[in-house]
Amino acid sequence: MEYSHVVETYQELESNQSTDKKSSVLAELFRESGPADLEVLGHLSMGRAFPAWKDLDMGIGSKLMVKAIARATGNTEEAVEDEWRETGDLGDVAADFVEGKKQATLQEKELDLASVQENLEKIAAMEGEGSEDKKIGRIAELVTFSSPEEAKYLVRTVLEDLRVGVGEGLVRDAIVKAFFAEMVDGNGFTRKLEDEDLRVAISENLENEVTDYGLWDSFEEENEVEFLDTEEIDLDDLWREEGYDLVVLEDNREWAEKLKESVQHAYDVSTDLGRVARTAEEKGIAGLEEMEMDIFRPVKVMLARKTESMEDGFDTVGDEDGLAALEYKYDGFRVQIHKKGEEVKVFSRRLEDVTEQFPDIVRTVKENVEAEECIIEGETVAYNPEDGSLVPFQKLSKRIKRKYDIQEMVERIPVTVYLFDAIQVEGEVLLDDPQKERWGRLKDIIGESEGLSLAHHLETSDMEEAQKFYQEALNQGQEGIMLKNMGARYKPGSRVGYMVKLKPVMETLDLVIVEADWGEGRRSDWLGSYKLACMEEDTGELKTVGKMATGFTDEQLQEMTDRLEPLIVKEEGRQVDLKPEVVVEAAYEEIQRSPKYESGYALRFPRLVRVRENMDPEDANELEKVEKLYESQQG
Ligand code: ATP
Repeated sequence: MEYSHVVETYQELESNQSTDKKSSVLAELFRESGPADLEVLGHLSMGRAFPAWKDLDMGIGSKLMVKAIARATGNTEEAVEDEWRETGDLGDVAADFVEGKKQATLQEKELDLASVQENLEKIAAMEGEGSEDKKIGRIAELVTFSSPEEAKYLVRTVLEDLRVGVGEGLVRDAIVKAFFAEMVDGNGFTRKLEDEDLRVAISENLENEVTDYGLWDSFEEENEVEFLDTEEIDLDDLWREEGYDLVVLEDNREWAEKLKESVQHAYDVSTDLGRVARTAEEKGIAGLEEMEMDIFRPVKVMLARKTESMEDGFDTVGDEDGLAALEYKYDGFRVQIHKKGEEVKVFSRRLEDVTEQFPDIVRTVKENVEAEECIIEGETVAYNPEDGSLVPFQKLSKRIKRKYDIQEMVERIPVTVYLFDAIQVEGEVLLDDPQKERWGRLKDIIGESEGLSLAHHLETSDMEEAQKFYQEALNQGQEGIMLKNMGARYKPGSRVGYMVKLKPVMETLDLVIVEADWGEGRRSDWLGSYKLACMEEDTGELKTVGKMATGFTDEQLQEMTDRLEPLIVKEEGRQVDLKPEVVVEAAYEEIQRSPKYESGYALRFPRLVRVRENMDPEDANELEKVEKLYESQQG
């Protein structure tokens, strides 16, 4: 296929806003294309030079592109930059300058799609010394062979910014439209009556209705029509190659949905829309269903939605008994680990191959994952080798980017992976299995070690237990928790509500500890349940505003007791009054009005962020601040 033809489609896509129209335009291009071109168009139609699973990028920024355009069109870089400033789009600049040059030279050799793709691959593969110049040279050469419009889209493609408004969903719909029957209901059929040369199936229940339509006789003449019992239709009949082009049913939605699902499934397992398109064309539904997940080819990850509160979270993901799986939400770096025999690869959430940066993960997976073959997911968290404390993500991100001295980084910033999902085990794809099942499969194959463990996990319907779990997570410095629907499948690439994240959103408050309680049972030597107070500015008095009670570790309780015990001024039963000296930063879920505390407000589920070492009670937040935060919550 000529590249100019693809460019015409880009132009049409760019000028059309409706997604339905766009997918039809794209479907037409797909239908005209041969199998090999189709594989390329699967990603190139979105402006991506490669399928989503391939860890390659063009490595060309605007600066290099300016040079390439200058070189290709015989202009100075300044001239290109000036024009760029005017138009804001280097694609347009390229088109303008090529136009100017073409008038002078009139040289034009047709570019074809395969050679564009080949060149894009070569450009991406150029690495190391002198590669920038080589890249520029190659792009300049491509631009030289281009028409103005080709140059425009080529430049945008190389910059990975095509701007024609086509995403994966749209390509999927275009594949459905291109290779499978169009499904309409009786009403939709009225718009098809002038079509010709189609193989048409119509539900026999609609026979009386459709044969009454004004244009029916000519339609019947120009097309091959069959009336049938809808029960007789199966998904395979909808493949245009061997089945129908048009199917008219009382209710077409269910079938249309099934077609989309088949294409989506094929994409989920392959992460390659080009291959999906080609398979749809060559083998239909049966081919799509047979597509397999390849080990070492990353799968798009399932994402979470946000939830505002524990109650909402349970409403979204709880089953009919209110049961949900809760896990710590670790603040790190998501990894998808693929293992087969002795070979292990680690992919990032964006499907980049980060195996080389994490030889420690590779080693621990080899040692502790008891499956010959699997694809599992988890969060990588970095810790301080001296005291085991968690280190912030920024530090871990150094490891992700590092390309040299990797061993030194392994020692300086050791990591642990907290595993939370299994996508494939021993060759068996688990995408359609419920979360509970996948978690079970994961548990079966993991031998925990220092560098590898299962995510902290709780299955419960009990709100209090859940709150405690949440507090624990936060007290340990985790970001929050995930709540997961135990019956839900794994949906790659989607931010579906099968799992939700809960984390504190409110601004924290600095408050003074004014009272505490001695614990009970095992904890009777520790002071827990800290009553917190804010400052009333006018009077300088401390006014209580809540109690921080659950979720501390033994170490934290011991540490707080050591701080607070010397400050006891009065003891009554288990309760002690304290000299107001210790200021803490507290997070919480929300502020409520409450007669229970002197301030008139109560923090809901307050938890410790940290002790404010350098703060005096005078520095604590004022009541006015609490009031303001309360007001702001009211929206
Ligand atoms: P955030 O910025 O809040 O992490 P995000 O956009 O990166 O959000 P989300 O899908 O919203 O990602 O939140 C889920 C992310 O949380 C996952 O991608 C993963 O990296 C991380 N995570 C940490 N612990 C878990 C866990 N136990 N289960 C699932 N995801 C977890």
